[in-house]
Amino acid sequence: MKKGYFGQWGGAFIPEVLYQTFAELNKAYETARADKGFWQQYVDLMANYSCRPTPLTFAENLSQHLGGAKIYIKREDLNHTGAHKANNVMGQGLLVKRMGKKRVIAETGAGQHGVATATMAARFGFDCTIYMGEEDVSRQRPNVFWMEKLGATVVPVTDGSKTLKDAINEAFRDWVTSMDTTHYVLGTVCGPHPFPEMVAWFQSIIGMEAHKQILAQHGRMPDRVYACVGGGSNAMGIFQGFLDEADVELIGVEAGGKGIDTDQHAARMVGDRAAPGVAQGYKTMFLQNSDGQMLDTHSIAAGLDYVGVSPILTDLADQGKVRFEAATDAEVLEALTMAMRTEGIIPALESAHAFVQAIKEAPKMRKDQAIIINMSGRGDKDIFTIAHAYNDPSWKEFIVARADEYRRQETGDRV
Ligand SMILES: *Cc1c(COP(=O)(O)O)cnc(C)c1O
Repeated sequence: MKKGYFGQWGGAFIPEVLYQTFAELNKAYETARADKGFWQQYVDLMANYSCRPTPLTFAENLSQHLGGAKIYIKREDLNHTGAHKANNVMGQGLLVKRMGKKRVIAETGAGQHGVATATMAARFGFDCTIYMGEEDVSRQRPNVFWMEKLGATVVPVTDGSKTLKDAINEAFRDWVTSMDTTHYVLGTVCGPHPFPEMVAWFQSIIGMEAHKQILAQHGRMPDRVYACVGGGSNAMGIFQGFLDEADVELIGVEAGGKGIDTDQHAARMVGDRAAPGVAQGYKTMFLQNSDGQMLDTHSIAAGLDYVGVSPILTDLADQGKVRFEAATDAEVLEALTMAMRTEGIIPALESAHAFVQAIKEAPKMRKDQAIIINMSGRGDKDIFTIAHAYNDPSWKEFIVARADEYRRQETGDRV
């Protein structure tokens, strides 16, 4: 098979000016991958900076509450910056150091990958520029605030729909003129080769740990493993630990938004709004209309709101190795409430999608069976969205009081 292809998916559709840069990146990645010392350096860094190995928590109360399979939760929420994204950015940071580059750029939608990249850049002493759609900059102020405080320059992108895909295009534009000094830290298992394979490699640390941990705690392999799928990096991370286990079923859960039969969701592998296409440097299933124009997407979880999906996952779906489902915004809020009340954990809205499907299936399974939910991140970041969705009156009061306070400060001297 051609390098960088997964079945018919993937590839590297890049402008000629970037050939040299990609050749250099491929070489650095392949040498690092062949070097056991590099992986150990990565594992040590994650142990000392990001709480790895993250625990596998037996959710005893939730399991009893549902009355079926034993539920285990892989705690990627306990990473530094609150999600699995740390695995990818710290890995790429080590690679940038090896390549001798001094500046990193990244795209970000909701801002989580931007915060993770800005954190990595601060830790390694790199200059950092984050491209973010203008719409997202105004919607995601807390993350923009942290990126800037961490020392990054946030550039609002005013092209197109002013969201994630426009930010990706702008990041590539920067890279074309800065490739001698700069590395582009792509945020998920998408984009041109070697990004899908390379990001999947860094994220495989999740699956390696989970494989050992479930054996130690449950005595054998789980029956099913659930993960939410935006670009697909946390799913690929945990799935890789179980791909060679024939009896473990892998389930990817996409954003069903307002419902799969509406036009407000972001499901590419479920429903019929996506079709094969080439964009942003690779071939996959994209949410697009019959003219190939990308469609607007919706999800209560900003991190799942993306038009494409990992070429590795589309191939695994073709091979029947991953089953895809979708969870709606409403189901996600219910699952979130259940996880908080039974286990005292707060999953990110993205991660709650995986909980939805597990909660649907666990009661139909036997008590001696076991499943793992990959909890990709923590929900603290979602307080604005969740409080709004719960329609919490005292939260509203708090926001209004804060706004009043600022307004008084601005106008105080004049009234
Ligand atoms: C970004 C994000 C996701 C989606 O990205 P994947 O590449 O699909 O993993 C999922 N969960 C959390 C908490 C995120 O921050």
